[in-house]
Amino acid sequence: MLIPHDTRIALDTVVDLVNTAPEGELPPDGPTDGLVDGLEDGLADIAALYDFAERHHISGVGTLGEKDLGAVRDVRSHFAEVFAAPDARTAVDLVNRLVAAAGTTPQLTDHDGYDWHVHYFAPDASLADHLAADCGMALAFIIVAGEQERLRRCEAPGCGRAFVDLSRNRSRRYCSSRTCGNRLHVAAYRARRREAGA
Ligand SMILES: [Zn+2]
Ligand SMILES: [Zn+2]
Repeated sequence: MLIPHDTRIALDTVVDLVNTAPEGELPPDGPTDGLVDGLEDGLADIAALYDFAERHHISGVGTLGEKDLGAVRDVRSHFAEVFAAPDARTAVDLVNRLVAAAGTTPQLTDHDGYDWHVHYFAPDASLADHLAADCGMALAFIIVAGEQERLRRCEAPGCGRAFVDLSRNRSRRYCSSRTCGNRLHVAAYRARRREAGA
């Protein structure tokens, strides 16, 4: 599956966003055996929100306040629902609602030496709307490609972090966090051996 650079970046952003949620905020029909590690909210305060925006090179953030914090957490819980969606139609409804509420303005751009690509967030969009528009459209891209099942939760006991499985045969079961990365390598090694007929 060929994924444009901006879609890939937006996918990284939405995965990180969903994974800042404390486990109490997992959707009720989310995983029950695997839970997001730690109880702390990765977006506990406005400083954490600035950190998040900087980490993902989100432009035009401006001054952030409590309202932004609440709105981004809200968007985050909707994205968590997309990752928990049992089928494409459920995911589509959620993404459509998120993107419509954000009010998108598609714009072609070739900033920072990247080839032509589309930004979806409206000029002067709030951080929450920026995330809802661009991350929502990145998830839309995955769904349109018939790949909704690639939006996953880590199956490692006690983990449950969100990730996008970009492996060729959709076989990835674990996230790439330090604790689960090892499992990932072992699983990849086994898969390679299987493919090699060993
Ligand atoms: Zn861009
Ligand atoms: Zn994990």
